[in-house]
Amino acid sequence: MPDLFSLKGKVAIITGGNGGIGKGIARGFASVGASIVIAARNEAKTAEAVKEIEEDFGVRALGVKVDVRDEAQVQAMVKKALDTFGKIHILVNNAGMNIRRRPEDYTVAEWDEVVNTDLRSAFICSKAVYPALKAAGYGRIINIGSMTSIFSGEKLAAYSASKGGIVQLSRSCAIAWAKDNINVNTILPGWIDTELTRQARKEIPGLEERVIARTPKGRWGVPEEVAGAAIFLASPAADFITGVALPVDGGFSVMI
Ligand code: NDP
Repeated sequence: MPDLFSLKGKVAIITGGNGGIGKGIARGFASVGASIVIAARNEAKTAEAVKEIEEDFGVRALGVKVDVRDEAQVQAMVKKALDTFGKIHILVNNAGMNIRRRPEDYTVAEWDEVVNTDLRSAFICSKAVYPALKAAGYGRIINIGSMTSIFSGEKLAAYSASKGGIVQLSRSCAIAWAKDNINVNTILPGWIDTELTRQARKEIPGLEERVIARTPKGRWGVPEEVAGAAIFLASPAADFITGVALPVDGGFSVMI
């Protein structure tokens, strides 16, 4: 029986891994032995996350400055990871943002900013990392969707189009790359306490209480809780699981 949940010897890139859910996942992977690449724009935050992970878990970690909307920067990120670690086994497409507007109020530039960050980036990163995952003989791509992969709202046109799209992107890649031993799955987090949702709570009166009332578990989630699902999907325990969308939502998606 292999060590089902171990990532020892594996190298994982986590976009947006310097904060929130991405940092939770990076710490989770490090706790089961993976080498970590934190890829995001804010270099100071990235350096802090790298230091924290190396100190707390004794694994190697690398910070790479990248804007995931830019294909050349993403290709440079993959090269840097390969130059440092020799291989890449896992990619988590987690970087994301939101601009809340009614559909008629979005500028096209705002629409592009959301879709390019939340959906197009996952395509760019997956395409860039594919040859390395194939060469490693063990590949896992985990895309971060949302409850808005299933539901939507009046100010969520660009965000929910992206998060719905990422589920279909995952399915297509899962089918295309199954024979290369690359599994591609989506995690759909419910409401998780991060900078992103702290901002949402400022913009939406009563959100804090509404989430608690609407979530069967009766509370917000924390980034570490998304890490558990990510470790599972990245590990040998999920060898036969590809193309799924796994809610990590305290029951949000099953309650009317
Ligand atoms: P945060 O705002 O805390 O983190 C977002 C991360 O993405 C940061 O590390 C940021 O780093 C990075 N990022 C944003 N834009 C870019 C870019 N252009 N290039 C590279 N990195 C970028 O948000 P969360 O942790 O809450 O969100 C993480 C993911 O989870 C997102 O995809 C979000 O949509 C999704 N999600 C969150 C939920 C929640 O309740 N929190 C629920 C469902 C889904 P930097 O600024 O340094 O680039």
